Amino acid sequence: MDPRKLGIRKIICGAEMGGGIPSIRKRIQEDYDCIVTEGMGNSDAAPIIFGECLEQAGMHFCGQEYILCELIDPGTGDVLEMKDGVKGELVYTHIDRECCPLIRFRSRDHVEVRTDRCACGRTSFRVRCFGRTDDMLTVLGVNVFPSAIRDIVGSLRPKTSGEIQVVLNQPGPAVPPPVHIEVEYSKGESNLEELKKEIEALFNSRLNFRAAVNLVPEGSLPRFEMKAQLIKKLWET
Ligand SMILES: [Zn+2]
Repeated sequence: MDPRKLGIRKIICGAEMGGGIPSIRKRIQEDYDCIVTEGMGNSDAAPIIFGECLEQAGMHFCGQEYILCELIDPGTGDVLEMKDGVKGELVYTHIDRECCPLIRFRSRDHVEVRTDRCACGRTSFRVRCFGRTDDMLTVLGVNVFPSAIRDIVGSLRPKTSGEIQVVLNQPGPAVPPPVHIEVEYSKGESNLEELKKEIEALFNSRLNFRAAVNLVPEGSLPRFEMKAQLIKKLWET
């Protein structure tokens, strides 16, 4: 069945940052001929705390009556000012809950804040989640997020399937270069040496780290129905 014929007008994504990763969002919108927005909450705090409007400019904070929302530096715990372009981890405190209220609960969600005026008229700040703070790697002092790696590989479709896995020999976040990354190439792709070089050069120029890419056939990396594991921990297998 052609998904474009299903008549779906809008898809709201949640629980994964895929809906906010540009290459993945673009593919879903093209495949279904619909608009994709996302929502985000936290099962410990509230199911939906942020929701994105049709302007697709990030998720608006919608929990003003129930949640006090702070932004912190995930490394030092220092509180950051909620201003345009600042990146940090979301921390939640319940304002109106009688049973098991949370006080300064660390969500581990790593977001970039937007405070410029949204065309929809809502005035609350917006966020785009780009990773989990416990998934962040540092390569020679440079912060590297598996979601950004996935976005670059996804942008090379149809040469790749878009699936990746970062392979770590030891616990992070510090990883010595080169970072080993498995990338699925698509069926029919023949010039693998050139593709490997192209992907490694993109990681170098756009994300500022050195990678050793291992190309694997389409379908060989694990697929996940819930949260995707973008990091393979060799010491746990
Ligand atoms: Zn808006």
